[in-house]
Amino acid sequence: MKSYFVASRKNLDTNKPSWYAVTHFERNFIRSAIPCFDEPALRATFNVTLGHHKRYQSFSNMPMLRMQPNLELKDYVWCYYEITPPMPTYLLAYSVNEFKCTVSRTTKGKLVTFRTCQMGGPPNSTSYVSSLSPKLLEYFSDLFDYPFPLEKIDQLVMRDQTSGMENWGLVLYGFSTLTTHNPIEYEYHNRIAQVVGHELAHMWFGNLVTVAWWNDFWLKEGFASYFSILGVDYLYPDWNHNSREFGLLKQFAFFLDGQHKVSLSHKVGKTSREQLMENNELAYFKSIFVIRMMHAMLGNKAFYQGLRSYITQYAYGSTYKDELWIQLQRAMFFET
Ligand SMILES: [Zn+2]
Repeated sequence: MKSYFVASRKNLDTNKPSWYAVTHFERNFIRSAIPCFDEPALRATFNVTLGHHKRYQSFSNMPMLRMQPNLELKDYVWCYYEITPPMPTYLLAYSVNEFKCTVSRTTKGKLVTFRTCQMGGPPNSTSYVSSLSPKLLEYFSDLFDYPFPLEKIDQLVMRDQTSGMENWGLVLYGFSTLTTHNPIEYEYHNRIAQVVGHELAHMWFGNLVTVAWWNDFWLKEGFASYFSILGVDYLYPDWNHNSREFGLLKQFAFFLDGQHKVSLSHKVGKTSREQLMENNELAYFKSIFVIRMMHAMLGNKAFYQGLRSYITQYAYGSTYKDELWIQLQRAMFFET
């Protein structure tokens, strides 16, 4: 699951091997696929063209503009994609595969089309993901008061993937996380909804407003995790998910905090492979409780006002944590 790679797995419908190619560029793997300045604070627009055999389909961050035959290679095609908005390199994505897709759409606000796709198999997991994704996107668009800027999100459920990846307009999910065989319905649905909510909250925290450098990785992971819990609470108000989940995760966050030798924000070198690769669990778990405390301390009005100003002010840009503190502090000042 690094850079641009090709793999084959047994198709659960045909029992035959099925080939696919896909990218996973976070944090710094794009440089082994494309020569570029591979740092999150730097944005560029990308004009993607993919060539492949006509039996396959292709995906990228943006909708396809047109497909035409490759005149030099029989049975091959060229697919041209719309130009992307300015975005960091780690969010560029493309895939060639023969997955089956389920389509769903938002019904409130801006129309956004979802295609949720996997390589054969029972449609249960993809149909659930497909049905809840538009609702979560609408919820976040309202909550952050900033519409999702693209027309579509394709969601690929990958057999190799264990974690998700929030590529702008082309999200990846791990097959294992979406097909958990937990017999308790609440556990099954809340897990999936939370994973989807995490990746969709990244469309604002990470994709629209990006961390300037990996020092403040928690700025995107913490908010994505926090709002994924609020998202499940919104979808299923009777589940009392908010207090259950925060209660469960708190002990784990305390445990992690006791083990780690680094702080939530900590220096990450520009060249050390180990540091760039470091998966800082504090960014995913402790950050949830730091954000929860901010929310409780500031109150709903100042908290959301501060976050909305932060998103509006730094949309298509990047931030360190101080930019967040300034916006929250301003909101608190005007509120009191
Ligand atoms: Zn994430």
